[in-house]
Amino acid sequence: MRELSILLVEDEETIREELGFFLGHLAPGGVFVAPDGEEGLRLYREHRPDIVITDLEMPQRNGMELIEEIRRIDPSQPVIVTTAHSDSRFLMKAIELQVDHYLLKPIDLSILEEKIEKIARQLRLEQELQQQRQVLEEIAHLEGNMVIVLDEAFEPIFLNREYLEYFGVKSLEAYQEGENRLSDFMLVQEETFVPQNREGFAWVKELEQKEVGQRMIALRGPHKEKTTFYNVFITRIGETGHTIVALSEITELAMRQLFYRRHARFDELTGLYNRFVFNKELAKGIDRARRLGRNLCLILFDLDHFKQINDRYGHSVGDRILVEVAQLLRELEGPEDFLGRWGGEEFVILTSRGFEGAQALAEKIRREIKRRLFVEGISLQCSCGIACSGVGGETMEAEELFRRADRALYRAKNEGRDRVVVDR
Ligand code: GH3
Ligand code: MG
Ligand code: MG
Repeated sequence: MRELSILLVEDEETIREELGFFLGHLAPGGVFVAPDGEEGLRLYREHRPDIVITDLEMPQRNGMELIEEIRRIDPSQPVIVTTAHSDSRFLMKAIELQVDHYLLKPIDLSILEEKIEKIARQLRLEQELQQQRQVLEEIAHLEGNMVIVLDEAFEPIFLNREYLEYFGVKSLEAYQEGENRLSDFMLVQEETFVPQNREGFAWVKELEQKEVGQRMIALRGPHKEKTTFYNVFITRIGETGHTIVALSEITELAMRQLFYRRHARFDELTGLYNRFVFNKELAKGIDRARRLGRNLCLILFDLDHFKQINDRYGHSVGDRILVEVAQLLRELEGPEDFLGRWGGEEFVILTSRGFEGAQALAEKIRREIKRRLFVEGISLQCSCGIACSGVGGETMEAEELFRRADRALYRAKNEGRDRVVVDR
């Protein structure tokens, strides 16, 4: 915080020395002393003191002229006037020049001290406010954050630089003239918020209804090509009724979350559902089949001698074949089927086509795989095991169903491969 400094302008030498000495204790930032208005103005320009104390009647530019000049430089400069006159003309003029205090000579030092301290307190407060304002400015303009302040009527009273730049405008006025709306650029992405009411800042009220962890939006355009994700923080300022909305950029985090969420469900190579999702679907399927009295069948596929293909053509050719097989299975999959990659060169289908339907589907797949040529003209074969949960009376649990399908597959392999075996 700046230290207090004072300019003293006084033509009477004894008073000047006495006051100058006294003020030294109060103004650690320095006391500048001038014998007349002319020198006073020069010192004022040079040092810009916090407080000016000036006599009125002086040679070389009197006190009134000095104050007038100072007011032109700084209209809010604190000024204390000392004078031997209690003349009303002076008083009127002092009021006109907005003098802070008016002291009659001989000066009561304790009163002077009181006045100076009062002004110093005021200056300190202003400095603090100024600093706080600077800090708030800095926070409001932090990169990667959009900040909006709304009044009680939900009209914006402040938009920070980042927000304005998003719309390619320079000021709040320009923003309002352009009929800009952030809600026009909100995208439907997994888990992101999109408002019903797109008017003005109505979206803030809607978003407020959501849980704190769910306040994520995705934006694209008008000047940004890439989709950007933001977490939205909403704060009400109690007394003023204002609302602060801060949008903090979390694109990288959101992308990573999306990535993991996808990878937790899908097999990376083929894009089919992975084993984890399949197991859940199997449990659900068994429950549903039981409730509806339907037969749920599980088909397990395993490509024959796939190791040899890898050995002969290389692992990356093997990979491409697996992708093609997945594609083929997708083509044959119907609405009553649920397809997944169990792992390696093994695929699974859960179907409610019934016992015969499942058998027909498995046969069709086996024939199709054998009929087609895959990448590099390679031909393939597969073996297949089927088990069904049964209807009414005894129905199987998921594990039992799986164990039986696996056993059937094992038999298909043992009995010479390239075949479908049904568990009995
Ligand atoms: P079988 O007729 O008895 O099923 O013979 P197989 O060679 O297919 O059986 P095995 O289980 O011994 O070998 C499976 C092979 O599948 C082993 C592995 O090299 C290959 N494989 C498993 N996953 C992948 C994969 O993601 N990519 C590639 N290229 N090969 C894989
Ligand atoms: Mg295998
Ligand atoms: Mg195999």
